[in-house]
Amino acid sequence: MFVILFSFLLVSSIVTDGHHFGYSKKNQHLWMKDHKTCAGKLQSPIALSTSQSISLPLPALEMIGYHDFLKNPLKLENNGHSVTLTPSIDSINKTISNNPYIFGGLLSPGKDYEFQALHFHWGRKNNRGSEHLLNGVRYPMEMHLIHKNTIYENMEIALNNSDGLSVIGVFFQLQEEANPRLVPILKVLPDLQWNNSQVSVNSYLTLSSLMPSNVEVFYTYKGSLTTPPCNEAVTWIIFPTAVPISLRQLNKFRHLSSGEGSLADNYRHVQGIGRRKVYVRRIDAGIMNKTKIPNLDMTNLSWYWE
Ligand SMILES: [Zn+2]
Repeated sequence: MFVILFSFLLVSSIVTDGHHFGYSKKNQHLWMKDHKTCAGKLQSPIALSTSQSISLPLPALEMIGYHDFLKNPLKLENNGHSVTLTPSIDSINKTISNNPYIFGGLLSPGKDYEFQALHFHWGRKNNRGSEHLLNGVRYPMEMHLIHKNTIYENMEIALNNSDGLSVIGVFFQLQEEANPRLVPILKVLPDLQWNNSQVSVNSYLTLSSLMPSNVEVFYTYKGSLTTPPCNEAVTWIIFPTAVPISLRQLNKFRHLSSGEGSLADNYRHVQGIGRRKVYVRRIDAGIMNKTKIPNLDMTNLSWYWE
């Protein structure tokens, strides 16, 4: 009896522990048992739709250093729920940082969000994998680029503030031809087949090479991490234009193992939008030729989010 009880406790702790969460329907339900925030009102992902978004001529999203090579060595890791890429973070001199960063959009004015890491969510089948939905479509893969507000010293502090993080979401869409820009990441995936495996590589990779062809239009809303502990600290920025990937390339992700099976289908179910506002950037002819600059008051951002 004790043996049975003990092994049951062991199994359930593996299932609900923040580092060992699972993606089955039952497991996703268990997230909120250990992490109350996962049942919060500002959860991600959500189903985005053009008709239910507020279209505004928002400031552009400025992406600084996205054309520069990420600082080597790059660390790639299979952590049992995704593949993550972390560049060598330049933390020695905080004022002269070489890390890519973003600002603009509906991010807090005057604040920079510094790139920390990126990871992927993908499906076992072609009709699933992305976390966000766009006009009813679930893409086969979604990439998340995590950025930390530089006013916060570390991730732990940022995670406890509503303006702590900004995550860029990028969809992938199947096409016939391989996408050569994905090769620096794809070529190391065979070394990451097993849970807890990691490699350190020197690779010339820019973030802009992973961006969609159009970054002028984006959706933005206030949400959360899509994994436990689900902190509601994220200003999401989602591009509606997808990046191409071939089936053969996508299959390299599908070969990765979580330790208990395929890592694929590592996406969270969509969460209720509730009373939240979702904005989509509109590009007016007036902005393009600078004849009619709209009067958007960016000094009081709470107006946009409340
Ligand atoms: Zn993610």
